[in-house]
Amino acid sequence: MVEAATLREALERWFGFPSFRPSQEAIVRDVLDGRDVFALLPTGGGKSLCYQLPAVLTDGLTVVVSPLIALMKDQVDALDTAGIPATSLNSSLEYSDLRRRLDGLERGAYRLLYVAPERLTLPGFVDDLERWGIARVVVDEAHCISEWGHDFRPEYRRIAPLRDRFPDVPFCAFTATATARVRDDVVAQLGLRRPAVHVASFDRPNLTYRVMHGTRGIDELVRWLRTRPDDDAGIVYAGSRANTEKLADALSAAGIPAVAYHAGLDPALRSKRQEAFIRDDVRVVCATIAFGMGIDKSNVRFVVHYDVPRSLEGYYQETGRAGRDGLPAECAWFFAYGDVARAERFVDEKPESERPAARAQLERIVRYAYSNGCRRRELLGYFGEEYPLERCGACDNCLQPRASFDATVDAQKLLSCVYRIREAHGYGVGIAHVVDVLVGAKTEKIERWYHDRLSTYGIGKDRDRRAWRHLADELMRLGLLAQDAARHNVVTLTAAGRRALAERTAIEVREAVAAVAGGKARR
Ligand code: ADP
Ligand code: ZN
Repeated sequence: MVEAATLREALERWFGFPSFRPSQEAIVRDVLDGRDVFALLPTGGGKSLCYQLPAVLTDGLTVVVSPLIALMKDQVDALDTAGIPATSLNSSLEYSDLRRRLDGLERGAYRLLYVAPERLTLPGFVDDLERWGIARVVVDEAHCISEWGHDFRPEYRRIAPLRDRFPDVPFCAFTATATARVRDDVVAQLGLRRPAVHVASFDRPNLTYRVMHGTRGIDELVRWLRTRPDDDAGIVYAGSRANTEKLADALSAAGIPAVAYHAGLDPALRSKRQEAFIRDDVRVVCATIAFGMGIDKSNVRFVVHYDVPRSLEGYYQETGRAGRDGLPAECAWFFAYGDVARAERFVDEKPESERPAARAQLERIVRYAYSNGCRRRELLGYFGEEYPLERCGACDNCLQPRASFDATVDAQKLLSCVYRIREAHGYGVGIAHVVDVLVGAKTEKIERWYHDRLSTYGIGKDRDRRAWRHLADELMRLGLLAQDAARHNVVTLTAAGRRALAERTAIEVREAVAAVAGGKARR
């Protein structure tokens, strides 16, 4: 049993921190006691310290299994700076460097060794570990072992056999993200034995969550970004590589320094961009979810989702990269129903076996987007944590509940316009064209197809395009309109839509949220 004062001294001496964060001390104690540990801490909660401090205080090598080489390198560099001998082994090392590290391991010169899970199956590696004498195995980002998580990595399945080989060595699993199901799965897959379970609160009180409904297009994103202080840095997540490039170009053209970041970029360029962002040389990184894991930039002031996140868990994780310094930060999701159709198509392109899970996750996140309740409550609830208040006061639904209003007349116009076009045309068109017909635009297509002769041409002049697109979103949400992603996003009336049109059913919709003015509702 280590004295509390001794632990705190060591914390100060090796890491320069005056006190522990919530949960850290208890976890450190369990690790020191040689127990198996399962620890769930939110991003920025300070997981690394929980195994690094014990590694300094005890004999033997702490083996850390970690998914990304970049992540390992950052950790080893930081430990170096702190004067804690640590190293990593990975396939990208020059031979002489590799030799030097292996020699050091033979001599017992290191306290921590970071490895990728792939290494565990290299011939002879486990024998090496046996010789080097390991004190404990730490599995970082442990949710990667579970298919139920948002980031399954099959290589992680190679960790479990180590347990049989080293039955007396404690295993510690750390993750920032796990639902009850993933939690159980991690414990089972790793064969943890009566683990000490630590679950820190997932609440991030300094983050404000907003879903901006009916917002659309890059212009609106530009306007929103212009309302933020000039030196605020942030991440804009997009669903595809092409979209990150498109966004970065458009933002740069609008005078907002931005770069794209995705897994398709040359690694050198990728790390250059990452560095530039960390050094505040660029304000915005437009990224796929490849960006962010292990990025230790504490002053990210906003995280925008420009496309539909893949899951609620992924969403929490991605927004979690904002405000790690504890200062206020914004998480804004620019949502349009049409994005859902695109996300559905991505799901359909997945291998058969992954589709049901992916579809369920998509449905869940879309439900979140449309929810009227407190966002924080819902997010925490997803992780099995009950938020103690009904309203957090720091999400769009708590700050400005969206009103509903009667839109029967406009809905009739829109539905009948879709119907007429279809009738006249023989096949469907996209929503943009429907809106063009409603507002009486003179486009090449309208002229070519004589759509200016339709009875619905120009009947929606009194509203702008944005209002019509929002209404279309709402009608899709209500199941009156459908959009077919497999056929160029053609919109059609559903059976319910046809009925509503014929029977003149009253239709209530919710207000759109203007992206500017920080998401204040405006009509
Ligand atoms: P995680 O891996 O859980 O996201 P890290 O281990 O990277 O978090 O820690 C997040 C940040 O918090 C780092 O900058 C780290 O130096 C800092 N940190 C960790 N523990 C403490 C502490 N007890 N006091 C102050 N800062 C801490
Ligand atoms: Zn709230």
